[in-house]
Amino acid sequence: MSELILKETLKGHRLRNTQCRADILAIFYEHDFALSHADIEDRVSEHYDRVTVYRTLKTFVDKGLIHKVLDDNGAQKYALCNADCSEDLHKHEHVHFKCIRCGLTTCLDESDIPGIKLPAGYVLMDVSMLVTGYCKDCQQ
Ligand SMILES: [Zn+2]
Ligand SMILES: [Zn+2]
Ligand SMILES: [Zn+2]
Repeated sequence: MSELILKETLKGHRLRNTQCRADILAIFYEHDFALSHADIEDRVSEHYDRVTVYRTLKTFVDKGLIHKVLDDNGAQKYALCNADCSEDLHKHEHVHFKCIRCGLTTCLDESDIPGIKLPAGYVLMDVSMLVTGYCKDCQQ
């Protein structure tokens, strides 16, 4: 991942370019599956502490760079957003897929979560859908 693309992406989401932000963003670009806080921490622990990693992830979510992915065990993971997301406006309600063999979770960008009908007086705040199965590397 080139430094320039990282810089431009941060700038596009009105974030100051810091080494920590660029490093963590690069990790997301290098993986096509969702990453947990611990996954990120493992990869940068020589340079940044827990709190810094936590704050950076939160900032990225707030600014529309990454979104939360709820795992089936309740764990929180994060995945890169598509280009349409911006500050406070995550525009995708897609399904996530978890492989039950390798445990990796990926975004199914093409699969929208079906419309949810709520009873009168209910307010929808968040919706997530996780499907499980075998990924292409594990299905043999
Ligand atoms: Zn998003
Ligand atoms: Zn798999
Ligand atoms: Zn996703």
